[in-house]
Amino acid sequence: MNVYLLGYTGSMQRRGVSNTSLAITAKGQTLLVDLSGSPIQALKEADIHLATITGVLLTHTHIDHIYALPSLLHQFWLGGRTEPLALIGNGPTVAFAKKLVDLFELERKKGFFSLVWHEIEEGVLTIGQLSLRLFPVIHGVPTLGLSVQHDDRHLVYLSDTVYTETWPSFLQGADILIHEVGGLSKEEEALIKKGHSSARQAARCALDLKAKRLILVHLPEDPKEDELLLKEAQALFASSELPQLNVPY
Ligand SMILES: [Zn+2]
Ligand SMILES: [Zn+2]
Repeated sequence: MNVYLLGYTGSMQRRGVSNTSLAITAKGQTLLVDLSGSPIQALKEADIHLATITGVLLTHTHIDHIYALPSLLHQFWLGGRTEPLALIGNGPTVAFAKKLVDLFELERKKGFFSLVWHEIEEGVLTIGQLSLRLFPVIHGVPTLGLSVQHDDRHLVYLSDTVYTETWPSFLQGADILIHEVGGLSKEEEALIKKGHSSARQAARCALDLKAKRLILVHLPEDPKEDELLLKEAQALFASSELPQLNVPY
């Protein structure tokens, strides 16, 4: 199992970098997590074949995590896709995603492939070879976190979330923790109000979970802040890293 970052910014994009989204590949299958920027373009940049994509997990309804869904589906259809596609999210996110699909009348297009919706608030969902463990995190709207174990590798993705000391025990020992960071510890009060974590809190989480590597994502607009965020995270958790696009983790 490998995971690729297709983007890693927060709400504001950077030159050459789009909002945070992931592609998880295993045994010729790909699961996308959140849809932003230009997902088809990003998948091509990462050399991930479109035919391998079996599902999309949308963590929550915030625009930087969901807005590219219609474009992805439209381009799948233009590309001649016939295989069904799994679309996964909690109740409010599935309802919102269905509205986006309806707005563009995608399912009325001739020969449009079938969308298989999976509404889940927490628990295990198997999509092809991948068993996804989903659980709620703390954010302004209902939001899902993800844990996947495959080929002796364990990935945990905490998209937008407030820090808590009470993570589910099945997150323990993650090989890779991909965690959002909204700023530095001096901004924590404001970050918590917006449903986000500081670099210190992401590192704290990596320590709590006994993770092996921490990749910081959902970074602020200004790349000049990256080194400060990294320094703050590394002060607590040495194996903290800034994100890289299109490399297999
Ligand atoms: Zn976000
Ligand atoms: Zn959000």
